[in-house]
Amino acid sequence: MINNVIALLPDHVANQIAAGEVVQRPASVVKELLENAIDAGATHIKLIIKDAGKTLIQVIDNGKGMNPFDARMCFERHATSKISSADDLFTLTTKGFRGEALASIAAISQVELKTKREEDVVGQQLIIEGSKFISQAECQTATGTSFTVKNLFYNIPARRNFLKNDQIEQKHIIDELERVAIPHTNIHFIFQSNSNEILNLPAGNLLNRIKSLLGNYIQKELIPIAEDTGFVKVNGFVSLPEAAVKSKKEQYFFVNNRFVRNPFLNHAVYEAYKELISYQSHPRYFLFLQLDPKHIDINIHPTKTEVKFTDDKVVYMLLVSSIKRALGKANAAPSIDFESNHSVDFNLVSNNRLVTAPTITYNEKYNPFNFSNETTLQKTNKQHWENLYNGFSTNNSELAIEEKNNEQQAFQTLKKEALDFSVFQLNLKYLVTTFNNNVLVIDQQRAHERIVYEHYLSTKAQTKIASQQLLFAEQLELSANDFGLIKNLIEEFKLLGFDLDVFGKNSMIVNGTPVDLQDFNIAETIDGILETYKLNTIDAKLEKHDNLCRAIAKNTCTKYGKVLEVDEMKQLLNHLFNCENPLYTANGKVIIMETNYLEIDKFFKR
Ligand code: ADP
Ligand code: MG
Repeated sequence: MINNVIALLPDHVANQIAAGEVVQRPASVVKELLENAIDAGATHIKLIIKDAGKTLIQVIDNGKGMNPFDARMCFERHATSKISSADDLFTLTTKGFRGEALASIAAISQVELKTKREEDVVGQQLIIEGSKFISQAECQTATGTSFTVKNLFYNIPARRNFLKNDQIEQKHIIDELERVAIPHTNIHFIFQSNSNEILNLPAGNLLNRIKSLLGNYIQKELIPIAEDTGFVKVNGFVSLPEAAVKSKKEQYFFVNNRFVRNPFLNHAVYEAYKELISYQSHPRYFLFLQLDPKHIDINIHPTKTEVKFTDDKVVYMLLVSSIKRALGKANAAPSIDFESNHSVDFNLVSNNRLVTAPTITYNEKYNPFNFSNETTLQKTNKQHWENLYNGFSTNNSELAIEEKNNEQQAFQTLKKEALDFSVFQLNLKYLVTTFNNNVLVIDQQRAHERIVYEHYLSTKAQTKIASQQLLFAEQLELSANDFGLIKNLIEEFKLLGFDLDVFGKNSMIVNGTPVDLQDFNIAETIDGILETYKLNTIDAKLEKHDNLCRAIAKNTCTKYGKVLEVDEMKQLLNHLFNCENPLYTANGKVIIMETNYLEIDKFFKR
């Protein structure tokens, strides 16, 4: 008897497994077929779907077609006409190159291919079902290629059951179509769903393409960008700051004409708009970066929407400055002060106010709890601040024991005093209070971010944050990258009250969330936490726990725009003054601005 335990998987099983990498849903098929049509040099591409692609997906192109041999070959795994050696990977200009898409699609659906080259009189028709070759025959067909994919996942019912409702699946398809149609404006695209024509995008320039996708109104909200720095070319459109919107959906990056997601690039755009758009609003952008393929590595993700540059930082800086320049030219941004670190909120500068200089002249280093700097506070105030801080501080180990009682007393009076603060909210953004002849302006969001950060940061194995079980566990579908990250952080997440578990490939299940976190969108929040976490790893070298606490704080703290009751404001201030460091957020942003009454006197020239 043969005792071998290792056997090669039958081809069709291997193909089904590999197909999972490439095809998650109908939209993935659409993406691959559209990309193949573009690589084939098509100028006209028609996409037809039925039942959001679950029943049928057809892509008809007028590209170069295939000869009878290639028509058969294209379904083989690793069959590609696009590269022939590893070196070609560094000069890649086509969308595909792995030769996996068609083999994968054919493994999990019923495919019909019709194709003909210009020089051939008759075309070829091929039928393949679940990787099984059914037939090949001559046929009449126009020059170009038509792929018809029927009954996706018909042979993997578990996967088919995972598909969302038609509306959601069709939305994914439209997203993919837009990502391909925006950068290929020389191609005429037609999209038909259940026999209705949904989109008809004639060839034209980029602005026309964007207009036909989003509506003509968009034109007056966009400003062009065109910069060539040699290393990278930046082209496209960004929106005027005043046209910023509440949603992030019209944000597109294309690197060498391929749609990519990249938190860095996205961060660079927001950096350029800093101080020009209000919190919670987002710029639209359609940005094209062109650079030598040898400076990028697109191949880090199987579906290739992630991109890595050999020099991230240079690209980041060039992008920020190109956008700033474009905004400046369009007079959207004052040309002054681009290099300065001063934080100026242009929203606060109204037209009829006399403004002498666009800077805020407070000392960022000034620490009201540190009295080495005598000029900023009067002696009497100093005493108060010191008491206030010591009183609220929970772990001042240097206190002499005999002073404890006095301290305790001071704490009581000051706590009372703190609760008696009069406080009001300014612009739903700041809390304003006075304290012993000083005016304190406290950034409400940053204050809360600090509080939440310290709350999580102090968590140890023994003081694990309790988790509230969800009534309905929520499933998260993640990119391979995010899945890897979250898996790596799972113990940290658990410690902080997020009850997570791996749930199949690239997906997680959330069973519970920290008790003190309520009323928030779990998927969105976790997504935000991962994005912040990734950015933090670039900005600073942090250990996992600290980074995660920062990311959670940033994404779960109470945002600007929230109306706070007086009691809530007081509570917030009390918590803030209870923090180890109430002055700065974990990432070093100022939380409290303090104006001494002497400065007010000075203003009135007393
Ligand atoms: P890849 O695009 O990575 O090369 P695919 O599996 O998507 O791999 O396609 C395999 C090959 O089939 C391509 O390299 C190309 O030669 C051929 N092919 C696929 N689609 C078309 C098309 N629409 N027109 C012409 N040739 C095509
Ligand atoms: Mg391909």
